[in-house]
Amino acid sequence: MKLFYDNDADLNVLKDKTVAVLGYGSQGHAHALNLHESGVSVIVGLRSDSSTRDKVKKDGLNVYDTADAVSKADIVMVLLPDEKQKDVYEKDILPNLQPGNILAFAHGFNIHFNQIAPPREIGVFMVAPKGPGHLVRRVYTQGAGVPCLFAIHQDPDGNLRDVALAYAKGVGGTRAGVIETTFEEETESDLFGEQAVLCGGATELVNTGFEVLVNAGYKPEIAYFECLHELKLIVDLMYEGGIAGMYHSVSDTAEYGGMTSGPKVINADTRKRMEEILENIQNGSFAREWILENKAGRASHEALRRKHSRLPIEKIGGELRNMMSWIKKD
Ligand code: NAD
Ligand code: MG
Repeated sequence: MKLFYDNDADLNVLKDKTVAVLGYGSQGHAHALNLHESGVSVIVGLRSDSSTRDKVKKDGLNVYDTADAVSKADIVMVLLPDEKQKDVYEKDILPNLQPGNILAFAHGFNIHFNQIAPPREIGVFMVAPKGPGHLVRRVYTQGAGVPCLFAIHQDPDGNLRDVALAYAKGVGGTRAGVIETTFEEETESDLFGEQAVLCGGATELVNTGFEVLVNAGYKPEIAYFECLHELKLIVDLMYEGGIAGMYHSVSDTAEYGGMTSGPKVINADTRKRMEEILENIQNGSFAREWILENKAGRASHEALRRKHSRLPIEKIGGELRNMMSWIKKD
């Protein structure tokens, strides 16, 4: 697999271009400030009633209403919540795009699932940092970068890879290495990861372990520490040294017990259900469900949030985390 580094990208490609970053949240502030400090001409687009406007100005950037920012820009990077992008695209972006303009994303959902279908004469690329915005910003200020993915969806002028790589360089990505992907691969793997492993899988694993211990008569405080709190230590070890690095650092008892019991928890049946989850992502069922859920005012989503908020592990966790002075209360 080819990795792209600083030498593979030329910021001069962006020299006479204005980049409008729409949204100033997690990704938006990091892209805008990193590009600005890389010498790229950046403006920020926000809603006229956005409370973030003052923050953008304090950070030294010019801020406009979304539609005006699009009009002024050559490249429009859409860093709004994914489920709001279609409406903003139809109302503020599409009417203000000129032929030759370029539209960019940090996640492929709306392009891949046809929620946004830009005209043929508009180039469309993705640069997706593989980390949250605050990390993208902090690592850049330290002189390094967070690895990025990039992808080309449509390229009417035939030079979009150079533009995308220059953009990735501007946010710091080529300092660490940039990988080429497709909108399809990025979108489907991202959804699968968050559903099966990261958000869905990990939380159910933690909560089920907690409930098994508590139902067997162990103190909820002890169960919380064992099943949730200590997960961070294990994840940090895997993050730094892979699965082998983690097993090297824990006791031999933990290693042996983990290796023998793990496959009983996650077995062939679990694998089959993971494959079904992937299939529902690939065939568009999940996207359709989530788009309709948003159109319907998110009744199911709110009900799920309420159900989750009432879990015993959340109550005991809130109390225990109050004892932990080092955990930021936000
Ligand atoms: P965010 O929620 O942190 O920020 C969204 C911004 O959009 C905020 O400034 C908000 O005020 C603004 N906004 C909300 N609704 C708006 C509207 N209707 N009109 C105009 N502005 C509006 O979002 P984020 O996490 O930065 O995600 C942005 C994009 O980056 C998404 O496509 C996401 O998938 C992608 N992404 C996020 C991460 C991450 O770690 N957060 C990582 C990679 C890619
Ligand atoms: Mg992701």
